[in-house]
Parts: sequence; structure tokens; C-alpha cells
Amino acid sequence: MKTIGLLGGMSWESTASYYKKINEGVKDILGGLHSAKICLYSVDFNEIEKLQHKGCWDETAKILSQAAQSVEAGGADFLLICTNTMHKVADEVQSSISIPLVHIADATAEKLIADGIKRVGLLGTKFTMEQGFYKNRVSEKYGIEVIVPNEDEQNTIHDVIYNELCLGQINSNSREKYLETIKNLHSQGAEAVILGCTEIALLVQQQHTQVPLYDTTQIHAAQAVKLATA
Ligand code: GLU
Repeated sequence: MKTIGLLGGMSWESTASYYKKINEGVKDILGGLHSAKICLYSVDFNEIEKLQHKGCWDETAKILSQAAQSVEAGGADFLLICTNTMHKVADEVQSSISIPLVHIADATAEKLIADGIKRVGLLGTKFTMEQGFYKNRVSEKYGIEVIVPNEDEQNTIHDVIYNELCLGQINSNSREKYLETIKNLHSQGAEAVILGCTEIALLVQQQHTQVPLYDTTQIHAAQAVKLATA
């Protein structure tokens, strides 16, 4: 079995989901007492979040690249960055290590393609919904049209991520707001919605809506399990 490298702590609430899902996935495949070989570097999210909101992405790239080098030195065969947003600096992180980075948007887009989805809604932080690093990758590399919520909705989605979900708070009013936005994206022609922030599945799950949801945490973790046990 290969060793899975994880860059986590962004936030630790979702890294805990990765840890659980990856171990469950390995157990499903190998059975018995098998568990995943994982090398995890978990950062202090307070530091990262401040740099994100100040637009200091170069600084975040340095922190994550150093962490990635530690993960590689710790014996990981490949690396996952356990957040969609920080894939903004995925190229810098990849160029600082010699093991492959498993890109969360690629794993998600491959699943959308396999399911024949041509137009998809995207929920995530404002960085992920507004900027090109994520949605352009999905549209240009995979030919899937990506639509995002309107500005008011984006602000709500973003604030709930940072002020509630990353702090472990699950609030049913916030869930209703998310479900309303998912409904709106669907009525604009989205055949499915990407939960493009690794904490969103803590709040919204498939049982809450008829619109097909693509949980990036689940998809990314499953991809790691597949690669580790291949
Ligand atoms: N985990 C989140 C994501 O997937 C947001 C936290 C962060 O900014 O890294 O985008």
C-alpha cells in the first residue's frame, strides 16, 4: 500500500472528514484491521486565513510548499491539499516537491465527466467561486460549463464557511440558505452542484436535496484510496 500525503488543517474540521473517509475506504477494500498509511501535516488555519483575506497568496504558497516538503520527506507517495481554495497555489506547491499532487478539481471533473454532466453549479469560498483557478480548470480542461451563485448568495456561502463550518458550527438556518442557492443554480440549468469547499458536506448532504451533489471531500478522499491501494 502506498502512503498518502495530506496537507490539512484548512480547516481541521474537514481534515477530520478526510482522515475518516480515507481509513474507511482502505478498510472497505482491504478489510480486517487494515488502515491507511497517512503522512499528515496540519497547519494553523488562523495564519492561512489571515493571509488569504489580505491577498497574500505568495506567503501561503511558501507555507504550504514547506509543509509539502515535510510530507514528502515523511515518506508520502503522493499529496492531497485538503481544501479547494488553497488549490489556488497548487502549481507552486507541486513545483516544490517531486511526488505528484492529486488535484481536487481534476478528481471532481473526472467524476462529472463519467456521469455525463455538462453544466454544473459551484459552491465554495468567494476565492473559489470568483477567481479562475478552479472553475476555469473545470471548464477549459474538461469542457464542463460552471455557473456560480449571485453576489449576495456568494457572500452568504463564504461567511457561513469561515464563521460557522470551519468552527464546527452546524446551523439549520444556514443549511436552508445553502439549499435555496442550490435550487437557484438548478433552475439556471445546473444539472448538479459541486460542494467545492471541503466543509460544506458537514452542513448539506444528498438527503437534503434532489439536485445531485458532488462532495469534493468524498471524491478527493476516494481518489486517494484508489491510488494508495492500486
Ligand atoms: N476548506 C475550504 C475549501 O475547501 C475553505 C477553507 C480554506 O480557505 O482553505 O475551500
